[in-house]
Amino acid sequence: MPRVKNLKACTGCLRCELACSYHHTGEFSRSHSSIRVNKPLLDHDLPAQVNVLTAGQGVRPPCDLCSGQQIPFCIRFCPESVLTDESEHP
Ligand code: SF4
Ligand code: SF4
Repeated sequence: MPRVKNLKACTGCLRCELACSYHHTGEFSRSHSSIRVNKPLLDHDLPAQVNVLTAGQGVRPPCDLCSGQQIPFCIRFCPESVLTDESEHP
């Protein structure tokens, strides 16, 4: 499961969300992503929230750890290295 290692660096660009939806469906759609990012756009001092959906949570597809990919898409396409693989050492 990907986990957040550096939340302060998140800009709210949503690349992780869209990359995740592409993994699941081949399309870019926030409603088909296992990640939900909330970043206040009007106050840059407020922190972002980045949550990964697991099985049994909500109607969006749960994280399947990017089965078949060497590097999970959400980690690979985050330009700020906010996310990491939980199997990595801190
Ligand atoms: S590991 Fe893959 S399926 Fe899981 S949240 Fe990241 S992009 Fe989505
Ligand atoms: S791709 Fe990275 S910087 Fe962009 S919203 Fe996701 S976690 Fe934040």
